[in-house]
Amino acid sequence: MPELPEVEAAAVLLRSVILGRTLMTLAAHHPSQQRQLPTTAIRRASGQRVVRVERRGKHQLIHLNDGGLLHIHFRMNGDWEFTHISDPFPRYARVTFDLDNGARISLTDSRALCTVRYYASGRPPVLALGPEADDPALTAVAVRHSLATKRGPIKAALLDQRVIAGIGNIYASEALWRARISPSAIAGALTLAQVKRLLTGLRAALADGVRNAGHYRTGGRVTPFKVYDREGEPCKRCGKKIRRIVQAGRSTYNCANCQR
Ligand SMILES: [Zn+2]
Repeated sequence: MPELPEVEAAAVLLRSVILGRTLMTLAAHHPSQQRQLPTTAIRRASGQRVVRVERRGKHQLIHLNDGGLLHIHFRMNGDWEFTHISDPFPRYARVTFDLDNGARISLTDSRALCTVRYYASGRPPVLALGPEADDPALTAVAVRHSLATKRGPIKAALLDQRVIAGIGNIYASEALWRARISPSAIAGALTLAQVKRLLTGLRAALADGVRNAGHYRTGGRVTPFKVYDREGEPCKRCGKKIRRIVQAGRSTYNCANCQR
């Protein structure tokens, strides 16, 4: 599943191709996306110029010059593919945007779970997202406040998109390892010092992820992670074996020695 760094990399690429261009033809090629993007929506978005591309958590927003916007979520498997309108459609193209300069942007997804929806001016989607991790205005005090009422484990709390936007399974594990906090610690009981370490760890893990996101796009096998997917391998800090536990049906990787 694309995590925040991969979505950020995808949004940067999308922005470089689509910003300032006019959407000439939009098409939905699969019944799932046709339901989300009916012909009325396609008609309204067609002919509009793209004035801004925004990433919020793992969501991408294409802002149009009439105030409308297209909301995209990759879900498990989505990605952008960039071709020319004279090329055949990519095999798993679910939605395509043909631009005024002849470029074609395809949202590809072998499983067709990705979503694209249109929102008219003044009626933006309700994303229910907390602040971005890299927002310099986000403080440990604010994060601790968001966690204060949570009685469950911190790992699960980090996956709540209303606490910090876009944190998925991988970066929750990575941030907790960097912060030396047990994934089973009660979220609401963390001290301010722990939350400070958590926020620092999260930002560092995401920054590493953004640096590596290009490898993900080209399908290369890179293991930039400190704990994720490293069960049985030595901890990069203390050398003890990384263990995998299951929390709410999701794998959590951690070092029981470093993260108490
Ligand atoms: Zn360790």
